[in-house]
Amino acid sequence: MNIIFLGPPGAGKGTQAQLLTKELGIPQISTGDMLRKAMREGTKTGLEAKRYVESGGLVPDEVVIAIVRERLAEDDCKNGYMLDGFPRTVPQAEELAKFAHIDVAVDLDLPDDVIVHRLSGRRVCPGCNATYHISQLGGSDKCPNCGETLIQRKDDSEETIRNRLKVYQEQTAPLVDYYKGKGILRVVPCTGTVEENFALVKKALEA
Ligand code: AMP
Repeated sequence: MNIIFLGPPGAGKGTQAQLLTKELGIPQISTGDMLRKAMREGTKTGLEAKRYVESGGLVPDEVVIAIVRERLAEDDCKNGYMLDGFPRTVPQAEELAKFAHIDVAVDLDLPDDVIVHRLSGRRVCPGCNATYHISQLGGSDKCPNCGETLIQRKDDSEETIRNRLKVYQEQTAPLVDYYKGKGILRVVPCTGTVEENFALVKKALEA
């Protein structure tokens, strides 16, 4: 099954996709993770992406489309994949449709006021990519999964979060209607716990 995760930043796309990877055995393809890796490694794509990612803006369509097209051609995508954070604009979705068949688009729905709270308290593990909220960590800065020191993403500062939400409303939210029009949209309210939300995601995929 080829799945897209839609939803505002902080809705839990990465977390839900990670859980689903374990359940379905298909890869999670996160353009945000790929861009951050390219930035760490200082590749041409990384250097090009840096200023957009750090300000909370969107990296130009042609840059992300190229990395997704390349990634989907790899062997581990033959039996399905989950796209997390792509597409983010209607032109990206239109381009994707030319080289991939998407079975279902899951829209993780979350009210705006919860998002800033979630993202400003988010910590990520540079070792295993797990994501936590500070309220889960009991004051520790170590990853409960692998022991690495957790970090705060640069773009999880309050000012950048507000910009990312604005960008989401303007450029990404129209994708909800786009996939509704294609008849493959499933909306999942994500205000519960990670486990509760995961149960709803699985139900939506079974429907
Ligand atoms: P994420 O980890 O999905 O929140 O993405 C972090 C940042 O990477 C975003 O704020 C954008 O700057 C960039 N990014 C990730 N995916 C895309 C995409 N599909 N199109 C444009 N920019 C993207």
